[in-house]
Amino acid sequence: MAVLEKISASTPPLTAPAPENVITVRSPVTGNIVGTVPMCSADEVRAAVDRARAAQPAWEALGVRARGRLLKKWMASIWDDQARLTEIVRSETGKPDGGVYEEVVVMDLLISFLTYNAPRILRPQKRKALVPFVHRAKVVFKPYGVVGAITPWNFPFLNAFNDLSAALIAGNTVVLKPSELTPFTALYVMDKMHEAGIPKDVIQIVTGAGATGAALVDMADDITFTGSTATGRKIAMRAAERLIPYSLELGGKDPAIVLHDADLDRAALGILCGGLENAGQVCVSTERVYVDQRVYDPLMGKLMEKIGTFRMSAGDGFDVDMGSMTNERELVRTEDHLRDAVEKGARILHGGKRRPDLGPLFFEPTILVDVDHTMKVMQEETFGPVIPVMAFEREADAIRLANDSIYGLSAVLYSKNLSRAADLAAHIESGDVSINRPNLSFATPGVPMGGRKQSGVGRRNGKEGLLRFVSMQAIVTDTGFGSSPSLNNWDKQSVFYATLMRHIRRVLPFI
Ligand code: ADP
Repeated sequence: MAVLEKISASTPPLTAPAPENVITVRSPVTGNIVGTVPMCSADEVRAAVDRARAAQPAWEALGVRARGRLLKKWMASIWDDQARLTEIVRSETGKPDGGVYEEVVVMDLLISFLTYNAPRILRPQKRKALVPFVHRAKVVFKPYGVVGAITPWNFPFLNAFNDLSAALIAGNTVVLKPSELTPFTALYVMDKMHEAGIPKDVIQIVTGAGATGAALVDMADDITFTGSTATGRKIAMRAAERLIPYSLELGGKDPAIVLHDADLDRAALGILCGGLENAGQVCVSTERVYVDQRVYDPLMGKLMEKIGTFRMSAGDGFDVDMGSMTNERELVRTEDHLRDAVEKGARILHGGKRRPDLGPLFFEPTILVDVDHTMKVMQEETFGPVIPVMAFEREADAIRLANDSIYGLSAVLYSKNLSRAADLAAHIESGDVSINRPNLSFATPGVPMGGRKQSGVGRRNGKEGLLRFVSMQAIVTDTGFGSSPSLNNWDKQSVFYATLMRHIRRVLPFI
């Protein structure tokens, strides 16, 4: 915490008034001011987008491999100086060191995936022509232009820079509007991009709150958003008005299902890790647990035993399991969900209280039982360190309960029967399912990640998350070989070819 103390000591006290056009960022651990950034106006957003638009053709012309080399150099510089990133992220979010390390590791995997695979994925693709030899068909991939990225505070490095990196390697330029709670992480990481050789106008940041983000939606050629479902819906409406492409990574209420044949030690650790990581402020955190009633008692025993060893602290080091919450609003909502559940008959078996002795936004890891789906804690996104557990009788009930949600982001299944678990996973209405380890899919850059239902639109990561930042153009050529021009499309030659190809493709459909 030495550096955080240094930052805190050199900043004004809590009561310092913030001017209208300035955002004051505070440490959630000490409450002290970390720094201030400007609240960018619509004109400033317009100027950034104009600069990005002017810089885009040269960035595109550089080629995918050269762009990949710059991204690799940037990521290496982040990896080599994790201590600096860690102190900045921690000063804004209150995360433990392990939480920042995780962001770096996942981002590094993604950059490795993108730089290795993008040249192949973005290469023009030959497609089946109407008549072989007579025609040729291919698809080419073109960047949209200026991508606007609007991002949240919970993973201020990863969530801000993962979609953006795919957009950049695809040849777009980017204007990023990071969360007003965590602008310094984004500014630091952007500086590292510039130091690595990515031109200044290719990646820019506009700091601000909702109005700055809204201005960006009004001006960019494409929007990628990560944040709440409520804001995502507003952005989608505006993007639809402008008819620009967009993708949304939104909230979740992710279920974990423990089948009767699960390894219970693994399941208990997975549930705690998946539910309490980043103090539960993770879109893909485990927010509901359904346990086969045959193993309910032993699983509860293991959960209670293991949660007792949980280390919560404002200190540094990888042995801290959970740090502070970041956002007071989420802490208040967590308390509201617990109050509502207890009023309706739930019991708190562990935790359930603030820990002001550690810091203003610390909240104990909490286990809740006797819950049902009338309670907010089983229906609405909690975004706090709360694990509600419920028993089920039959697997069909578990699937029905898991799918009884307006959300469909991610899910976890625990079972020793891996193929049976994979079959069952396909019945869960979610963008991904991890088996026997929470959030495994989130950390696997080759697979697409995103939500069904109100959890999102579009996908990030994988081939799909890269192609999402390019428009596809089909180029189809008449070679002139064996074809003659005609006034209409039903001349003798065209009818001959159509009939010929029909007969050939009945026997050889791959031609
Ligand atoms: P969170 O609860 O994670 O802060 P929000 O959806 O409120 O989720 O915020 C996510 C991001 O969206 C932040 O960068 C925020 O400033 C931005 N934002 C909030 N309102 C709007 C809006 N109306 N238009 C565009 N961006 C917005």
